[in-house]
Amino acid sequence: MTATMLLGYDVEHRGADGEITRRFLARAAELHAELQIPATFFIVGQTLERNASAFQALLGHPWLDFQQHTYSHVLLKTVCQENDAGTRVWRGGTLEQIRDEVNRTSQLLKDLLHVNCLGITGPYGYYRGLKDRPDILEILHEAGIRFTRTFGRNECDWQPVPYEWQPFWYAPQGFPDMLEFPIGGWQDCILREELGWANLDGYVARLRADMDDIAARGLVWSYCQHDWSSIREDPEMRLTRDILLYAREKGFAFQTYRDYYQGALQRR
Ligand SMILES: [Zn+2]
Repeated sequence: MTATMLLGYDVEHRGADGEITRRFLARAAELHAELQIPATFFIVGQTLERNASAFQALLGHPWLDFQQHTYSHVLLKTVCQENDAGTRVWRGGTLEQIRDEVNRTSQLLKDLLHVNCLGITGPYGYYRGLKDRPDILEILHEAGIRFTRTFGRNECDWQPVPYEWQPFWYAPQGFPDMLEFPIGGWQDCILREELGWANLDGYVARLRADMDDIAARGLVWSYCQHDWSSIREDPEMRLTRDILLYAREKGFAFQTYRDYYQGALQRR
């Protein structure tokens, strides 16, 4: 079976001058046009509001799709992260906050980018995604969300997330048309922090080994990078380019999350 790569960038930087956002958007747009490989931007509402014209410059880009990452990066669930450094807890937002954040951002995407938002990445990511939270799924479903990227941590609310944790429907929770895409492996910023930000080759080598395994098993790989991390110590996004070229060499198919979701809905 052919492996599939879904690349989603969380576009979330909220610097006052928008400098990092603009640099990332311009370079990512150029890179994806050059390689003709699709990607999805999961955008924080505040980031979109502050940089509307930079996002609008990308309208009609043939390889980019736009979805959301809440309005102000509020967590959908509490994270209790346990690793060698100890235990850290970040509290999730209230249901009211979540409803407001998600609806507001979908409205912004509609008003500013003419996008019908179907997808969300949950800030920080959580063990089990939203399997244990039908109340949150209900709020998202009401807001028009049909696919989620919330399962981004393992049983210690840490990483890596095993690649074999594949996309699944939230049917048992009562939402048979909602699809979860677990984020496989590491989020880029966590692994790059561990390996050293300037160690681009070390990061790419790690991912190449993972991609060999994913390709051999024909898995779906939902991969997460961020706007700010993608250009940190790497303004040309050489790291991202190397990963995408290697995925192509290994025979991966590439899709946006939106297209994968639509296809999965038809095949179901
Ligand atoms: Zn985020």
